[in-house]
Amino acid sequence: MRGYKRIAFLGLGKMGLPMARRLHEAGAPVVGFDPVEPTRLAFAAAGGAVASTAREAVSGADVLITMLPNGKAVRAALLRGEPLVVHCAANAIVIDMSSSAPVGTRELADELAGRGVHLLDAPVSGGVKRALDGSLAIMVGGPPEVIAKVRPLLETMGKSIFETGAVGSGHAMKALNNYVSAAGLTAACEALQIGEKFGLDPVMMTDILNASTGRNNSTEVKLKPFVIPKNYASGFSLALMAKDLRTADDLAMHLDVPAPFSQALIEIWEQAADALSAAADHMAIDAYLATAARPHRRRR
Ligand code: NAD
Repeated sequence: MRGYKRIAFLGLGKMGLPMARRLHEAGAPVVGFDPVEPTRLAFAAAGGAVASTAREAVSGADVLITMLPNGKAVRAALLRGEPLVVHCAANAIVIDMSSSAPVGTRELADELAGRGVHLLDAPVSGGVKRALDGSLAIMVGGPPEVIAKVRPLLETMGKSIFETGAVGSGHAMKALNNYVSAAGLTAACEALQIGEKFGLDPVMMTDILNASTGRNNSTEVKLKPFVIPKNYASGFSLALMAKDLRTADDLAMHLDVPAPFSQALIEIWEQAADALSAAADHMAIDAYLATAARPHRRRR
């Protein structure tokens, strides 16, 4: 892939590793870094170049991609202590592909602009499976002329690239997508638990939901492989989903939108995050719902 001097890729976790691999396999000059050694070794085993420090990875980079847990981690990586971005090439473009909070992204964009660095937010949807085959949905916010410079990179990692507007708009869209996704998953898990107790078969219920108006992404691709067999291993942690729901609800509060359902949902997910281990997959919301205390409620 021509036109790029050095692409630093920070965060080689569940999503970052397959995304960095796709760029490397497409011929992009990627240098990866992650503080966790096994993730660095996994990228090196795939033939990728690995730096032993973040500073080494970004030195002279004209593009810096972050795929970190959240926006606070991105801000800390870029600006804490001696700012990492001062080691990038002039006019470098930072692409934050993490699911970060949109208001913080706008603030970060202003601060980076003061240092001559452009920020795009380009979060992704599709999970590890679609990161592996390069078919992610990518929602990218920022000036069209800056996006144009990195579009070949985005097209290597994703199949549907949506330009959502000003910087931060991709992160807003991503949090709202995950709000809708978690709502569908939560309702589907509860419906299966209620139906099963009444004597309905959960596999048959899933087929009926998928042929009916209750169909959603969870009924289509999550219930049979993960929820019904209680195989809670989809590759996306419950803590990260709870963070996305918090981001969506914080945005509602910031904009003074009432969003009472968002508030109810975030309470369930934050209680689940407290009750389950930090490593729990987001499919384990099913186990939490099965044991959660029912809030006292008056019957009509
Ligand atoms: P993960 O925890 O597997 O990976 C995050 C990685 O970032 C870790 O390996 C960690 O060591 C690394 N890291 C932390 N600080 C760093 C730093 N300063 N420099 C370099 N690396 C650093 O998480 P993930 O599942 O890969 O998710 C990453 C982001 O993508 C999150 O924002 C998440 O919400 C989002 N996301 C995840 C999925 C999914 O299915 N897993 C799907 C869409 C979006």
